[in-house]
Amino acid sequence: MVSRVIPVEDFDLVIFGGTGDLARRKILTGLFRRFVSGQMPNTARIIGAARSELDDQGYRDFVRTAIGEFGGDEKKDTKALDHFIGQLFYTPIDARGDGGWDRLHELVRQEVVNAYYFSVAPGLFGDIAERLHRYKIADSTSRIVVEKPFGRDLESAQELNSVLAKHFDEKQIYRIDHYLGKETVQNLMAVRFGNVLFEPLWNAQYVDHIQITVAETVGVGGRGGYYDKSGAMRDMVQNHLMQLLCLIAMEPPSKFDSDAVRDEKLKVIRALQPVETHHIVRGQYDAAGGKKSYREDAENPKSFTESFVAMKCHIANWRWANVPFYLRTGKKLKARSSEIAVVFKDLAHSIFPEDEARHRNILSIQLQPNEGMDLQVTIKEPGPGGMRLVDVPLDMTFADALGPESEDVTDAYERLIMDVMRGNQTLFMRGDEVEAAWAWTDPIINNWVEKHDVPKPYEPGSAGPEDAMMLMHRDNRRWRDIKG
Ligand code: NAP
Repeated sequence: MVSRVIPVEDFDLVIFGGTGDLARRKILTGLFRRFVSGQMPNTARIIGAARSELDDQGYRDFVRTAIGEFGGDEKKDTKALDHFIGQLFYTPIDARGDGGWDRLHELVRQEVVNAYYFSVAPGLFGDIAERLHRYKIADSTSRIVVEKPFGRDLESAQELNSVLAKHFDEKQIYRIDHYLGKETVQNLMAVRFGNVLFEPLWNAQYVDHIQITVAETVGVGGRGGYYDKSGAMRDMVQNHLMQLLCLIAMEPPSKFDSDAVRDEKLKVIRALQPVETHHIVRGQYDAAGGKKSYREDAENPKSFTESFVAMKCHIANWRWANVPFYLRTGKKLKARSSEIAVVFKDLAHSIFPEDEARHRNILSIQLQPNEGMDLQVTIKEPGPGGMRLVDVPLDMTFADALGPESEDVTDAYERLIMDVMRGNQTLFMRGDEVEAAWAWTDPIINNWVEKHDVPKPYEPGSAGPEDAMMLMHRDNRRWRDIKG
């Protein structure tokens, strides 16, 4: 396959929080990969900003170490690494103070695309946005990138939106949900809207139900303090699962354009029905095999925060009338796996009476650990013994079809940062989308708080609490196995 990397325009990217964990692990290593691939121009520059007292050379050493630690094979290209490192600058800045902003003003070239990545706590967004304007660093052509969590409820999300809106237009704001940067998520749109095969079947007439699972094997150790104030609903459902649900359920946009796509996603969130209490299961992992329980990890012996949530929800529109969407996410589960499964209905009539098993077509879209898709189809079991049917996957693993180069699936962060430079907002959340998602999530969380709801315990390494299985069994359905 011929590589079709299209370079982006020259840019200056300022990373507030340029010494933080996200910058080291994802942003800087990702940018280096894009540099090696030829997508980032030779002249583009990255300017780190944080409180740590570093000079340019100190920051260059810091980033070289980070790439040494988190970079992949591309770091073996020492010539490229040296050039990339030479394009790095740093200015010490306290977001709440007034030092360093004049230097930043001098450093940022106004004649190229300039973008500001707010890789800091959301409490600093307003301070940074205001100073970028006060010191005449950013203007109406600048772009800003903000990270999750975007609020912890509707009210705080509205506050953040209005703080940013004081200085930046919606067209300048790129709210990252890195799930949207995954290759498969975009492929989902390509499969749905680029083929004649799927779209006619993508509705209540042919789809029995849809499952979305985001399972992690890790617990909350290390970030228990933060997580305990958040929980699975805020940390995963309100953003990642909701975004996946939107892409699966949305109507075809009139064109592949950022507002057309985001308008359709917003309609899905607005059509989501309130979830009935008995259609939600909250869980919290127990201790097992010498490993700590959630409460020990979170250092909160009385915590009622959920590390698992499963739910059944409905979208009230013509396309999805009475089609359940089952969502599930949790920590310390049996495997690390993110999957969307579109489970099609049974045949209207089987002409193979001797075959008693129920055969179903299932389109499975895997996002983690490997990205790919497969379509389960029914065929005749080979060999003698009559007309026995068997379900086999029509594997659409990209590497098999597109050659080894396609295995080098671009990391979500890299893709999204390059989209910022291209000025393409399609894969970023719009302010009204984020608010609509909180408006749907808030009543669920508030109800738990009011009722002092106690999460159901589950064994680490399992598929979650027994009640989550029951949620499906009651409907005569089964969760798909969580496979890594
Ligand atoms: P982190 O490791 O704690 O880094 C925070 C960064 O902010 C550091 O560079 C810190 O440097 C800087 N900082 C703190 N206070 C500052 C101030 N007053 N003025 C200027 N800079 C300041 O956090 P992180 O993990 O990188 O996360 C950054 C943001 O991304 C957070 O909002 C987080 O929720 C979000 N996020 C992170 C991840 C992840 O994988 N890490 C994933 C998704 C979202 P100094 O101490 O030198 O100032």
